[in-house]
Amino acid sequence: MGPPGVGKGTQAILLRERLGVPHVSTGDILRASMQAGASLGKQVRGFVEGGQLVPDDLMGDLIAERLQRSDARGGFILDGFPRTVGQVRTLDEVLARAGMPLDHVLMLVAPEEEIIRRLSGRRTCPQCGAVYHLESRRPESAGICDACGVALAQRPDDAEEVIRKRLGIYRAQTMAAGQVYRERGVLREVDGVGDVQQVAARLRSGLGMA
Ligand code: AMP
Repeated sequence: MGPPGVGKGTQAILLRERLGVPHVSTGDILRASMQAGASLGKQVRGFVEGGQLVPDDLMGDLIAERLQRSDARGGFILDGFPRTVGQVRTLDEVLARAGMPLDHVLMLVAPEEEIIRRLSGRRTCPQCGAVYHLESRRPESAGICDACGVALAQRPDDAEEVIRKRLGIYRAQTMAAGQVYRERGVLREVDGVGDVQQVAARLRSGLGMA
């Protein structure tokens, strides 16, 4: 868990490599279905591009379907789900049905000015999803993905006014979801400020990994 732009995706990819379990990013799944012109993509585009949350019923179906796939049987890293108290309940039900425990809930935190700076400079590769930053993670040639050679793009929801809206929704809804886990005593907050490897080391220590 954590606000938009705090580094959840970047860190989840590093953890996936260490743990050998899939990284399930609901944002990535929604964007892929929008790009494919799938029916889910058509239903969610307005919410995603406007920085609003996709309704819980759609998200519940999406996550239940994804976590049922065979690659998730040995565990998974969720990134960007749950984001509301309703989604916490949905995840409880999906895990109970699958007989799987929730091992850890990590919340990455960073000040809002840092988040706005990171998101407004973020650029992504529309082909492979690689994430760059205008200041801190520049591609070898400006505006071009190192791996694919295609032009980088700014996510429509990374426009400054949409970022502010997403942060407001985070404060109102996702912090309440985090509070449910805090009350259960399973939430650990991890400082998301610093370079990628520093934050990764903090997360691993939060997970009890060497
Ligand atoms: P992300 O890539 O995690 O920042 O997600 C991008 C956008 O996808 C969000 O701003 C929402 O519009 C939508 N989204 C992703 N995950 C969820 C979720 N768990 N619940 C509702 N909407 C979501």
